[in-house]
Amino acid sequence: MDFDAVLFDLDDTLYPYPPCNAAGKEAAWREARNRGYDLDRDVFEELYQRGRNAVKREIAGTAAAHERFLYFKQALQSRTGTNQSTDALALGEAYWSTYLDEMQLFEGVSETLSALQGAGVDIGLVTNLTTRIQLQKIERLGLESVIDVLVTSEETGREKPSASMFTVALARLDRRPSETLMVGNSVVSDIEGGNGVGLTTVLFNGDEPDLSGQQQPDHRIDDFSEIRELIL
Ligand SMILES: [Mg+2]
Repeated sequence: MDFDAVLFDLDDTLYPYPPCNAAGKEAAWREARNRGYDLDRDVFEELYQRGRNAVKREIAGTAAAHERFLYFKQALQSRTGTNQSTDALALGEAYWSTYLDEMQLFEGVSETLSALQGAGVDIGLVTNLTTRIQLQKIERLGLESVIDVLVTSEETGREKPSASMFTVALARLDRRPSETLMVGNSVVSDIEGGNGVGLTTVLFNGDEPDLSGQQQPDHRIDDFSEIRELIL
C-alpha cells in the first residue's frame, strides 16, 4: 500500500456544489416571496450577493464567512433597514434544507471510500465551514460509517490552506504527512495547503489549467475511482 491515510475535502470534492447552491438560493427566493418580499429572482440574487460580500469583507478566513444565515440576515437588514430575525432564519432554513435534498455523491465516491475502508486506510474529512451543517451533509450523504475523523474550520479556528487544518487531522489519525494523501477541488485550499504540510496532493474536479509551484498537485484526476489506484 502506498498510503495509509487519505484526507478529503467535502464540498465540490465528494459531491457537486453548484447545483446544490443554485437550488438553495432558488428556495430561499421563494421563501422570501412567500413572506411578502417583492423581489424578482435577479434582484434577490443581487441582494444575496450584497449580504455575502458584506459578510466576507468582515470575517473572511473564518468558518462563519460561509454561513448562509449570516448572508440572509445581512441582506434583509440592508433591504429593510431593520432587523429581520424570523425571515432570515426562514430563508436560511429554506436554503439549507433544499441544498441537502439536492446533494448527490460524485460517481465512484461511495465505492471508492468503501474499498479504502476495506483495505484499512484511514479516512479523514477536512472542511472549511461551520460544524452543524457539515454534520448534516455527512449524514445526508451516508458517509458517517466510512469517515474516521472530521475536522471543520470552526473547530480549529483556522481555514484551509492553514496548516492546522491538516495537522489536526493527522494528529487525530496518528499519521505522518508522508503516509497521507490529500484530495480536493480547490487549488488554494486543498492543494497549496496540503503541499505546505508535506502531503501528497490530488486535484479532483479542479478546472484551473497550468499550475506551478506550491499550487501544482502531485496528481490530477478526472475520475474519482482513480484514487484507489493511487493508494492501494
Ligand atoms: Mg471544496
